[in-house]
Amino acid sequence: MSVPSDARLDTLLQHTGQAPLDPATGSGPVAMPSMRTSTVRFADMEALDRAQAAKARGERVPTYGRVGLQTHAALETLLCELEGGTRAFLAPSGMAAISMALLALAGQGDHILAADCVYAPVRYLHKTILSRMGVRMDFVRPTVEALTAALRPETRVLYLESPGSLLLEMLDLPALARWGRAHGLVVVVDNTWGSGYVYRPLALGADVSVVAATKYIGGHSDLMLGAAVACDEALNRRLGETHYALGSTVSADDAWLALRGARTLGLRMRQSAVHALEVCRWLESRPEVSRLFHPAWPADPGHALWRRDAQGSNGLLSVAVDFDGAGARRLIDALRLFGIGYSWGGYESLVTQVEPQALQTHGYWAEQADARLRAGSVLRLHIGLEDPRDLIADLQQAFTQALA
Ligand SMILES: *Cc1c(COP(=O)(O)O)cnc(C)c1O
Repeated sequence: MSVPSDARLDTLLQHTGQAPLDPATGSGPVAMPSMRTSTVRFADMEALDRAQAAKARGERVPTYGRVGLQTHAALETLLCELEGGTRAFLAPSGMAAISMALLALAGQGDHILAADCVYAPVRYLHKTILSRMGVRMDFVRPTVEALTAALRPETRVLYLESPGSLLLEMLDLPALARWGRAHGLVVVVDNTWGSGYVYRPLALGADVSVVAATKYIGGHSDLMLGAAVACDEALNRRLGETHYALGSTVSADDAWLALRGARTLGLRMRQSAVHALEVCRWLESRPEVSRLFHPAWPADPGHALWRRDAQGSNGLLSVAVDFDGAGARRLIDALRLFGIGYSWGGYESLVTQVEPQALQTHGYWAEQADARLRAGSVLRLHIGLEDPRDLIADLQQAFTQALA
């Protein structure tokens, strides 16, 4: 039994990373077990020498537990299938994967250009660690014009996220990646939104894709995990060195959970995406809604880019409502099925209020001149796998209560 070389992604997601068969019995488990171990043992010194030699050539050969054994390797292979990379480096969270990638690619005196719409803790990474190392980072509008104006002789990395955090604006990733490469920059993209299933930055011209498997890949809100995936051999070596030096390690149980989640990634993302569109349709009918931010929604300004570059969508959407801060809080508190909480990509629906200070860092928001929009509040919803009719009924009663 082997997977045909032309198998499609949904097939690969089921067949990649199967547990090996025991040659003595010719049988093995269907599901990859969680291989918990802190170290590796060898049959003899020659076997150890062979492993060391392969490792020196840059191959993924565990000689100690930190890099992980078959469970980790299976997840890495699957992440490579998703992202179209050749190596995946696991990290204990999405943020740890981002830190690992930026620490691998920038050093003293270097400059990183980042989109102003990226996941906000990246600014904190710069403030607390990268700046102390002498790395300068600027957050600018992700347009060729703005990036060109901010480019410096010492710029080394272009760091993007598409669609952007908070307002989900689609970037023209192929154009930005082309520009970055033309200026000798390594293009790194946070692909947590697409998770390799509905958006594939490496195929769109990026060099490194980082993903929080905490979100859709895990999919059940029960683990934290991240990865950096790349194709280029020199980049893989660079990421591998940093991964090793940081001692970044992931529990076999968490790798196992991520692998288990990935088997149903397609189903869950597709279903959440259908539900999100139904919720969008209802929200659009509400007089209190001034804007929807969801690239799969036909009225979204990023819809054409989404159609061109993405293979699907997910359950994440932001919505601008006419309620002031207090009204938005009443609305959120009135919801029964939406948990109040950060994160997304799990089976369940969640809601947060997007903080006005966070919006201020976003050039895209500053460009929204509409006074009505700016007077209101922005909520971020993750639409989960509940029956969308129940979610809509819940929103309906919460709007009514917030208006009362
Ligand atoms: C959640 C998130 C991360 C960080 O992932 P953690 O596993 O929570 O550290 C990074 N980028 C984006 C876009 C995210 O939504």
